[in-house]
Amino acid sequence: MNAIAQGTDMTIEMAARVADFPILGRPVHGRRLVYLDNGATTQKPQAVIDAEARFYSESNANIHRGVHWLSQHSTDLYDQGRERVRQLLNAAQVEEIVFTRGTTEAINLVAASWGRANLNEGDEILLSGMEHHSNIVPWQFVAQQTGAVIKVVPVTDDGELDMGAFSQLLNERTRFVGMCHVSNALGTVNPVEEIVRQAHAVGAVVLLDGAQAVAHQRVDVQALGCDFYVFSGHKLYGPTGIGALYGRRELLDAMPPWQGGGDMIHTVSFERSTYAPTPQKFEAGTPNIAGVVGLKAAIAYVQEVGLEAIAAHEDTLLQYATEQLAGIPGLRFIGQARQRAAIASFVMEGIHPHDLGTILDMEGVAIRAGHHCTMPLMTRFGLPGTARASFALYNTREDVDALVAGLHKARRLFGLEERSA
Ligand code: PLP
Repeated sequence: MNAIAQGTDMTIEMAARVADFPILGRPVHGRRLVYLDNGATTQKPQAVIDAEARFYSESNANIHRGVHWLSQHSTDLYDQGRERVRQLLNAAQVEEIVFTRGTTEAINLVAASWGRANLNEGDEILLSGMEHHSNIVPWQFVAQQTGAVIKVVPVTDDGELDMGAFSQLLNERTRFVGMCHVSNALGTVNPVEEIVRQAHAVGAVVLLDGAQAVAHQRVDVQALGCDFYVFSGHKLYGPTGIGALYGRRELLDAMPPWQGGGDMIHTVSFERSTYAPTPQKFEAGTPNIAGVVGLKAAIAYVQEVGLEAIAAHEDTLLQYATEQLAGIPGLRFIGQARQRAAIASFVMEGIHPHDLGTILDMEGVAIRAGHHCTMPLMTRFGLPGTARASFALYNTREDVDALVAGLHKARRLFGLEERSA
């Protein structure tokens, strides 16, 4: 668990936050919506919805290119969003924050720009066996283009990174290490400080995928010492289509642009173009301005609730869910790492995860079933997929109880449990 559970008071306090999220008031299949698919995307508080709507009704103009007041106003809002992300990650400089469509695009940016410029034949890219496809496939592209080789750190039966194997795989050919901070399929919190320390000792550059971390704990990129950190706004109570890449300034300054177009240039002629400084160099074209405004509101919201309070609440809930789920016959947890955040992944003997998902849905309980974009990890566990309940600040014990009741119902429907049970 990633923080000290602080008992039920915190849970009661957080339950009051349900009212901030209008979608949680809508029924699904005539039932109260129990939303436990937060690993896929979180719901949005009214403050975020209002901020985006207000932007379009009061502030909309394209940024950077206008001398008129509205364009300058919109540019100010965009710049304030960048400063908010800097604060969220505790980056040293605002120039170290590049806006992207999300985690996937941020990793593709690093792979296409840093990867193609720095990797050569025989260089090694070290990834973990629990990576999301978005931290695998872009590196396969680069490996095919450069002749670099991908190596994989195995995952233990408990769903932890095999740190002994990690140390052994690191060598002077390792140029890049890419790891998730928190696994989206298992909830495992990886020992990222240690990963960065060991990787830097052999001169490798480290990217941490924070997609499942930023909404659940405080992240400090300077304390972590990583070279790149990436996340998606929509998993942090913000809008879809916006996220960010943190990159150490000297790395970003040395990297070539990856997309060409407006806003990323300094001068253009048909003979040659020169480029804008970091971070504009990586933000070609009109960006998702409204998304940045929404993301800024989302960060303000989680900062107001408090990331420590969120972590403590989710830990209490995960502990409760783990106890309750453990009492269901035939249920087996996948991933029992010592450090876990906000995710319970499991399979049920005799019922396919997709059937579990469908039956729970009829009860108003939204979970995710499948490979969670981690096919190599599922292969490692010999499974087609798992059922995953993932928690957010607005989830309650009643939500866990609804999940457990739904699972008992699934067992009854499959003839695995007596009706009286
Ligand atoms: N990495 C992890 C660990 C994730 O959980 C996800 C999304 O589920 C991603 C990357 C991709 O995020 P996005 O689809 O927002 O780009």
